Amino acid sequence: MNYQNPDKNGYYGDFGGAFVPEMLYPNVEELQNKYLEIIEAEDFQNEFQDLLKNYVGRETPLYFAKNLSKKYGAKVYLKREDLNHTGAHKINNALGQALLAKRLGKKRIIAETGAGQHGVATATACALLGLECIVYMGEIDIQRQAPNVARMKMLGAKVVPATSGSKTLKDAVNEALRDWINHPETTHYIIGSAVGPHPFPDLVARFQSVISKEIKKQLQEQEGRTNPDYLIACVGGGSNAAGTFYHFLNDENVKLIGAEAGGLGVHSGESAATTFLGTLGILHGSQSLVMQTEDGQVIEPYSISAGLDYPGIGPMHANLSKEKRAEFFSINDDEALKAAFELTKIEGIIPALESAHALAVLGKKKFKKDDVVVICLSGRGDKDMETYLKHLETESPKKTESQKD
Ligand SMILES: *Cc1c(COP(=O)(O)O)cnc(C)c1O
Repeated sequence: MNYQNPDKNGYYGDFGGAFVPEMLYPNVEELQNKYLEIIEAEDFQNEFQDLLKNYVGRETPLYFAKNLSKKYGAKVYLKREDLNHTGAHKINNALGQALLAKRLGKKRIIAETGAGQHGVATATACALLGLECIVYMGEIDIQRQAPNVARMKMLGAKVVPATSGSKTLKDAVNEALRDWINHPETTHYIIGSAVGPHPFPDLVARFQSVISKEIKKQLQEQEGRTNPDYLIACVGGGSNAAGTFYHFLNDENVKLIGAEAGGLGVHSGESAATTFLGTLGILHGSQSLVMQTEDGQVIEPYSISAGLDYPGIGPMHANLSKEKRAEFFSINDDEALKAAFELTKIEGIIPALESAHALAVLGKKKFKKDDVVVICLSGRGDKDMETYLKHLETESPKKTESQKD
């Protein structure tokens, strides 16, 4: 099976497709018809690769984490996406899509954001390329990720609060889609994860695939082989995982692990672990696993981590889960916090809360001494300092306002 790219209708097995209102047909069809030709063109690649190298700071290090390795009895490497300009993997996709938007003649960019990393990355790309930028963000996330809101504003973006539902990521996507329906001609929607109608999941995966391309090369240099035994990444919508897995998807000897946000526990009613809780449904333009009631109402998700607080999952990952090509773990808030403090203490790296979910898999899975384990450190923890400090003071994660009574 080819796990890497969707078929011509945008399906990965049973998942994907493009379910959009009529008003968006022209935009989505234009993208479907043109995206590969545009992004594979030589002038596009020259501009994109130059920006990745000289603006973003790629390649990012593949860091052998000696202390983590000793503790968990395996060779643990961290792919340092936290060292990218703006502090996470999101910039790879935001720049790629902003360049694409320019070639489509669009001058107005909209985006949704959860933790604010995609909003910051998009605002950055727009500042660089002279594009208008509007970012939709859940009201709760605006409160819990204040430093990123300030950065977006300084970068010249307009930040619009999404006030419906749980006032988090899902609601921000809804607002962004509504905006796009109202401004189809002038506007490109830079989706921040491997979700949405075809071709977005494939587009985003291709822009993020630079992560696994570099891992292959760096492992060859450091371990004398291109393939690790395990790849681990956290999964919100699935973009950093898609990028980390991409060039290894069809090498079945590389084991793939996704870490989802368990929240207060998979069965607590306060969770965002979609592969455990989701059923086949349509959310934000594609058919995938969705956390929903029997009559199809989307269930409000919960995670301490704004970037993973989403009731769906990209179609590539839904397929990897169904076909058992990847193994998924549900990591609870307290486990992620513990992993974040551990990495900080023994390696001197403060990770994003999202990335800490991937790190927590180390404590849940048995590895052999010589196993090469690569973990995607998707972002840095600056934006989460308030949450971390609160935890330092109380020693236990607090319930957040995004939870329902
Ligand atoms: C947005 C974000 C994520 C989750 O999004 P994916 O699309 O699943 O990668 C993970 N880590 C960080 C640091 C993020 O900003």
